[in-house]
Amino acid sequence: MKKIFLNKNKTLIELGYEFLVVCPHCASCAKVIALDDPSPYIANVRRRFICTACGVIKNKVIKANGYGQARVSYEPKANYEVILAENPCDWYFQLSLYLQIECSGNTLWALNLENLNYIENYIEAELRESYPYYLSVESRLPKWMKLAKNREDVLKAIQKLKVKLNEKS
Ligand SMILES: [Zn+2]
Repeated sequence: MKKIFLNKNKTLIELGYEFLVVCPHCASCAKVIALDDPSPYIANVRRRFICTACGVIKNKVIKANGYGQARVSYEPKANYEVILAENPCDWYFQLSLYLQIECSGNTLWALNLENLNYIENYIEAELRESYPYYLSVESRLPKWMKLAKNREDVLKAIQKLKVKLNEKS
């Protein structure tokens, strides 16, 4: 039976409740989590960096702009609290994502395990449902990832990331 991918229509924003990041103190896999509403557009919410390997915890409250919204930017280098660009780091502390790997001359990254499994399900499918929601993860995957010639490389890279995640503790 062929593997079928049915649109999940989830956005990266919905997956931003948790980021696996590289701890800047000990290089272990750490987390950035939402203590309140995980939406990056809401101001005055708390975000927490936690590294269980070295015990560092940092909290941050996302400040509002003059309009009472979080300072959201789509620019990778903009000096805002929240970054929504395709820069492989978390949106609040700007720490490198733990789940990233070179693949077919590009960088494959995922915010967390759910995001990684999502990408894997899409890539390994032989049949895909048409017309995904335009902001969804499946419709926003870069073209190089969707090319048939890169399929095996992408799946191997995802497996390597899963092994890295399992071996971290
Ligand atoms: Zn650490």
